[in-house]
Amino acid sequence: MSEATDVVEYLIVGGGMTADAAVRGIRSEDPEGQIRLLSAEPHPPYDRPPLSKGLWKGEPEERVHRETGDLQVDLRLDTRAVSLETDPPAVVDDSGTRHEAQRILLATGARPRRLADSHEGVIYLRTLDDYRRLRAHLETAQRIAVVGGGFIGCEIAGSLAAASEAEVHLAFPEEMPLAGKIPPPFDRYLARTLEDMGVTIHSGVEVTGVEEDDRGHYRLQTGEEDPSPDPGDTQPDVAPVREKESRALGTLPSLPFDVVVAGLGVEPCVELARDAGLEVAGGIVVDHGLLTSAPHIWAAGDVARFPLSLTGRREILGHEEHANESGMLAGRAMAGASVRYDPLPYVYSGVGELTLEVVGLPSPEDEVEVEAGTGPLDPGCARYFRNGRTTGVLIWNRPGRAFKVKREWSSKDDNPGPGMDRLRELILQG
Ligand SMILES: Cc1cc2nc3c(=O)[nH]c(=O)nc-3n(C[C@H](O)[C@H](O)[C@H](O)COP(=O)(O)OP(=O)(O)OC[C@H]3O[C@@H](n4cnc5c(N)ncnc54)[C@H](O)[C@@H]3O)c2cc1C
Repeated sequence: MSEATDVVEYLIVGGGMTADAAVRGIRSEDPEGQIRLLSAEPHPPYDRPPLSKGLWKGEPEERVHRETGDLQVDLRLDTRAVSLETDPPAVVDDSGTRHEAQRILLATGARPRRLADSHEGVIYLRTLDDYRRLRAHLETAQRIAVVGGGFIGCEIAGSLAAASEAEVHLAFPEEMPLAGKIPPPFDRYLARTLEDMGVTIHSGVEVTGVEEDDRGHYRLQTGEEDPSPDPGDTQPDVAPVREKESRALGTLPSLPFDVVVAGLGVEPCVELARDAGLEVAGGIVVDHGLLTSAPHIWAAGDVARFPLSLTGRREILGHEEHANESGMLAGRAMAGASVRYDPLPYVYSGVGELTLEVVGLPSPEDEVEVEAGTGPLDPGCARYFRNGRTTGVLIWNRPGRAFKVKREWSSKDDNPGPGMDRLRELILQG
């Protein structure tokens, strides 16, 4: 039997950036209402992006905290919701306590995908505790493996190479980092930036698992031999692999690593919603008001699958701005406001001195036109388009310009988006 409690006005399940934004959304409409927040983490909500970037450049850890607790919230940390009821809305937590609520927000976010044959020593960088675990190795680690060529893998490989004396190796199955997410030559420029920072890149390598040897070192299991040393295949100034070093060091599986960090993408945490019978399709399905298929239950952030006019489909995003905006609007909606969430998506990333931002939601099938400089740090841009409509814009090393693109693109209804000439003006000139 679960222990019963009073009916709470607002119950938020999740302790991330979306949850914090939702508290602020509720407070903007309802300064007094009773809010309870259940988070599986031991820390109050904090910003995740600095875990792979700013904190390695000396940003103090206190800066990541969001001060959610200052907003009259009953914060229940280290408390995991284990089941959801829809009528009346309620959640049971892992201590057996039942939290009945007038309105519930599911902001359970996403969890890292794991290697098929994982080892408990592998660090999947998602939480502050993961960051602290990795940081604790920094003084002593001599060789670090980063697995995965997406945003997190590239960011943390660059950060570790800059912040430590360790040899940093980055392995991924594609030809280039951020493959399919940024077009040539920017993918090669990213590879070169990482190499200039001291990262050894192993492209075309699928890591399937990690083993620990009897000396406490980790070895990567790969699907095949590290194919990097093939001089005939490479273009002179854009090679993603440091071939000579790679040869000298041996193939990846033979190298002993002190630490392995994996960034293999994420999976939304939909179990509560699915088990309660809510509509789930690769994410918790919501409408433009962020309401799920159950009355009085909303979802937002990394876990929500929402309708996006730009693509004409329901989409799932894992971006900071999405967490902040969808969380804020969901909170306001819970407090009775009429809201409509239909964003122009935006994501940013950075490796060393390099910044890259994407406005819109390009897909690998879109056509693309590119304006690039001759070196990795030269500003540039790319326009993705389909049927004459812009689907996405890459802004390369021109921080501060994304807002101009967003303002212009979202200023008119049924806006086909800026063309390449206009993008050159907005991003590269001035
Ligand atoms: C290292 C890192 C760097 C990033 N960098 C960038 C960046 O540069 N730019 C960018 O746009 N985005 C970035 N992101 C992505 C961005 O941080 C996420 O999109 C955002 O954090 C999602 O917020 P969320 O609150 O929806 O989900 P999450 O952050 O996943 O938070 C979900 C919370 O819910 C809790 N929870 C889950 N299930 C339960 C349960 N059953 N009961 C109670 N609590 C539960 C979890 O413990 C967690 O605290 C980065 C992410 C990481 C990890």
